[in-house]
Amino acid sequence: MPISNGDACKFPSTKGEFQDYTKALVILEKEYPTRDGLDVDMLLDSDKHGALTYNDFLILPGYIGFPASDVNLETPVTKRISLNAPLLSSPMDTVTEHNMAIHMALLGGLGVIHHNCSADDQAEMVRKVKRYENGFILDPVVISPATTVAEAKELKAKWGFGGFPVTENGTLRSKLVGIVTTRDIQFHTSDDDTVTVVMSTDLVTAPAGTTLAEANQVLRDSKKGKLPIVDEDGNLVSLLSRSDLRKNLHYPLASKLPHSKQLICAAAIGTRPDDRDRLQKLVDAGLDIVVLDSSQGSSIYQIEMIKYIKQTYPQIDVIAGNVVTRDQAASLIAAGADGLRIGMGSGSACITQEVMAVGRPQAAAVHSVATFAARFGVPCIADGGIQNVGHIVKGLATGATTVMMGGLLAGTTESPGDYFVSNTGQLVKSYRGMGSIDAMEDKKASKGNSKDSKASNAGAARYFSEKDRVLVAQGVSGSVLDRGSVTKFVPYLIAGIQHSLQDIGVRNIRELHEGVSNKTVRFEMRSGSAQAEGNVHGLHSFEKKLYS
Ligand code: GDP
Ligand code: GDP
Ligand code: 5GP
Repeated sequence: MPISNGDACKFPSTKGEFQDYTKALVILEKEYPTRDGLDVDMLLDSDKHGALTYNDFLILPGYIGFPASDVNLETPVTKRISLNAPLLSSPMDTVTEHNMAIHMALLGGLGVIHHNCSADDQAEMVRKVKRYENGFILDPVVISPATTVAEAKELKAKWGFGGFPVTENGTLRSKLVGIVTTRDIQFHTSDDDTVTVVMSTDLVTAPAGTTLAEANQVLRDSKKGKLPIVDEDGNLVSLLSRSDLRKNLHYPLASKLPHSKQLICAAAIGTRPDDRDRLQKLVDAGLDIVVLDSSQGSSIYQIEMIKYIKQTYPQIDVIAGNVVTRDQAASLIAAGADGLRIGMGSGSACITQEVMAVGRPQAAAVHSVATFAARFGVPCIADGGIQNVGHIVKGLATGATTVMMGGLLAGTTESPGDYFVSNTGQLVKSYRGMGSIDAMEDKKASKGNSKDSKASNAGAARYFSEKDRVLVAQGVSGSVLDRGSVTKFVPYLIAGIQHSLQDIGVRNIRELHEGVSNKTVRFEMRSGSAQAEGNVHGLHSFEKKLYS
């Protein structure tokens, strides 16, 4: 509202009556109540301007009264479980296996292990996440007393390290009898000797249950290169390496349940009868959260699966989906879902909207479902279409409590598979939609750890295509650029979200949701030219370096 001369006279400080800033502000807000921008309902009124997605709008800045580091990102992912960062990695075979799940959890988020593999392979990955202890090598290469020096040298050449514990029967959880290191075999010329000739037997060990800090101290004191950890019967359970001492980062945000030292683990399954057997194996391996993986979650199969899980495994939280409408959400919430996954056709490798003509622009979908689900205390994941920090904040601002990423994380060191050099000479990793022909036929795109590729066809099941004679693709297969390690990238995302929430003037995600619903957090639509203005423009050349 423009201030006329008359209005100006009412402004307290100009009259010198009020020196008090707070009083002046109260009067200002009372006299000039009109707020800039749009509230969320005006913004996402599809009658007026069609359904929007993330790039179509911006959030207006608020008032900064705190440092960005004070912004707390704790947020629920299910009714019972909260994370310290609102970030999930998608259950796709080019994104989340145990290594990604371990690192997402260490960094405060959650990785959902894919199911495009046999139930046994998936259960083994769950076991690795649950057994993971930062700094401890939980599956060290172990040799037996019958191993020859030549074989030990070959193992060193194969693995790149030469410190091998020797156990009675050559496996983990068998009695530790000695240790062989590079120094022991390097100049030993009788290659046919067994390692018992060269191994050290007077070992410094630490008992199972030793903390990382304690174990590191023992390593320092003993001045040895390796510290075997043994149980009360002297069986080897894990190994610590001196060269990792400096690498053992501290993970203060790690996702753990209260009273547990283990990382939280989530995995995806389908809704076919044999998925019940799969789930049993995952639960036996220690699963905490199961995600029912379907492109269209509003089905009799999913409703029955939720009821079955809630009855059979009351300790497990169920995330259902995917949904994009309130009606879809209602049936899943009624069946007992502890969380919902929102998105249809917004993923970067996805062609559902084009081929099936169904789906919904992501911001509209998130707002519609998340505000509805919030009434029942059901947290929502904004899944797909996240290309940058801004998209994460917009997903949260429209009502989600967490976001899920596929393509953005597929290029990191922790995703499955190896880097390769693209035709243009750039370092890339493969990334494919789970509804791509490759994934549905379960052709290995040089990724995935499944030993038995026939054992599951999760791609086809997710898109209800297992029995089809003609497979209709809902995704594509491609590659994404190298992004380095999630141990750098996720902290960047977290710091970016903290700065964004500071700009908006809210200290946490709950305050963001409250501000949006009580209309104090405001939005603005972006025209095409506004979007162009908001990107780098007019430069002859530039390098877009996002963090250091
Ligand atoms: P080594 O002295 O030749 O065994 O090698 P280093 O201790 O210098 O480095 C071994 C690196 O490999 C460390 O970062 C270990 O964490 C890692 N590593 C991974 N798996 C194993 C394993 O099974 N045995 C050993 N010795 N190291 C492993
Ligand atoms: P390296 O430097 O990679 O060869 O490995 P280490 O520093 O661990 O080992 C140096 C020597 O100490 C080798 O002869 C090992 O067999 C021996 N050694 C390693 N761990 C122990 C231990 O706990 N006790 C004893 N007595 N010797 C060990
Ligand atoms: P992104 O983060 O790459 O934009 O999207 C990841 C999300 O896309 C996944 O979590 C999943 O919901 C969705 N998705 C994965 N594969 C496919 C596919 O082949 N087709 C469709 N429609 N969606 C997919």
